[in-house]
Amino acid sequence: MIRTVQNELEMIRNRGLLRSTRLVSGRQAARVICNGLDVLMLCSNNYLGLADHPALAAASMKAIEQYGTSSGASRLVSGTMELHERLEQAVATFKKSETALIFNSGHAANTGIIPALVGRGDVVFSDRLNHASIIDGILLSRARLVRYPHNDVHALARLMDEHSAGRCLIVSDGVFSMDGDIAPLKELAALKRSHGALLMIDDAHGCGVLGEQGRGSAELLGVGDEVDIQMGTFGKALGSFGAYAAVSAELRDLLINRARSFIFSTSLPPSVLAASQAAVEIVQAEEGDQLRERLHANTRFFRDSLVAAGFSIPDGTTQIVPLIIGPTDTTMQFSEALLAEGLFAQGIRPPTVPEGTSRLRFTLMATHIRSDLAAAVECICTVGRRLGVV
Ligand SMILES: *Cc1c(COP(=O)(O)O)cnc(C)c1O
Repeated sequence: MIRTVQNELEMIRNRGLLRSTRLVSGRQAARVICNGLDVLMLCSNNYLGLADHPALAAASMKAIEQYGTSSGASRLVSGTMELHERLEQAVATFKKSETALIFNSGHAANTGIIPALVGRGDVVFSDRLNHASIIDGILLSRARLVRYPHNDVHALARLMDEHSAGRCLIVSDGVFSMDGDIAPLKELAALKRSHGALLMIDDAHGCGVLGEQGRGSAELLGVGDEVDIQMGTFGKALGSFGAYAAVSAELRDLLINRARSFIFSTSLPPSVLAASQAAVEIVQAEEGDQLRERLHANTRFFRDSLVAAGFSIPDGTTQIVPLIIGPTDTTMQFSEALLAEGLFAQGIRPPTVPEGTSRLRFTLMATHIRSDLAAAVECICTVGRRLGVV
């Protein structure tokens, strides 16, 4: 059969995996207008509610007035703007690293950083549940990809003994994006030391949320100094857009010279850099502590209520709460039914998660109101019973 675009799409549709986007009007907040309906947002990574914070918007508008709307080119071509430099200094202070380098997105960071560190003849040890952008980065690097079972440090140790040629890189999500559990960073740091490897953590979901002042998962587990590359994003808890690598000055120089997504792409514009700067300040301030407290309280309430209602969810403590259903069709029916009832919770299916583990992925926000969450759990229960999954 000739593979046309049409039958390519047909194949995806037949497997129940056809994706499309939903129109949301207005701001990304705790409640949004979706398809004209006022719904509770339960699938945004805007964990602290900073995406519509007035301080970020004000900083952004001021930056446009002062610096205009574009950076003009790659920083290696038309220059680093003051705002890039200021944000990198702020991130290095926040993360307690020697330096930091800004990337255009988390995806661009991972696909730029990994090939800058390893290549043909080297090995990357990657958790099975790592984010797709990490896999993309490894594939681009042409290094050997060795996947280890999720969070299984004993299996990783054995694999590292078996594959010791060339340079070695261990890479893991800090907080797993679809499961909400935290990587065993202390053990990963020990393996990095014993095997002379580099350690990279993608903290897209830990930055701003975990650890003292929201410094992230490495800070929470006391290994901030041992992680060679702490990558994190501005687009989730920080309510802006883009990403950073908190690294040594030497590694930063290497990334500037080797990371193709840094070299060959126009750098972030003033409005985005200024919003990120404002967010980095807020998460470290008292306001950040208050927002984190509210987020963690909402998370505890939601997790406990789901369990009390008879749902079984994987153990965990973070704001990402997976309700694993299994079959893709039931998962998507569940998600659709919830939306009709005023709850926006995305169904997650392969290839984002392994075959047979389709799920609803609920995410909590500091700005959720308790009564909305209580009503949501009741609704999830009613719909779950109707579909026979609880
Ligand atoms: C969202 C995400 C990314 C990509 O970040 P963007 O800034 O959205 O491109 C990378 N890694 C993880 C773990 C993520 O969840």
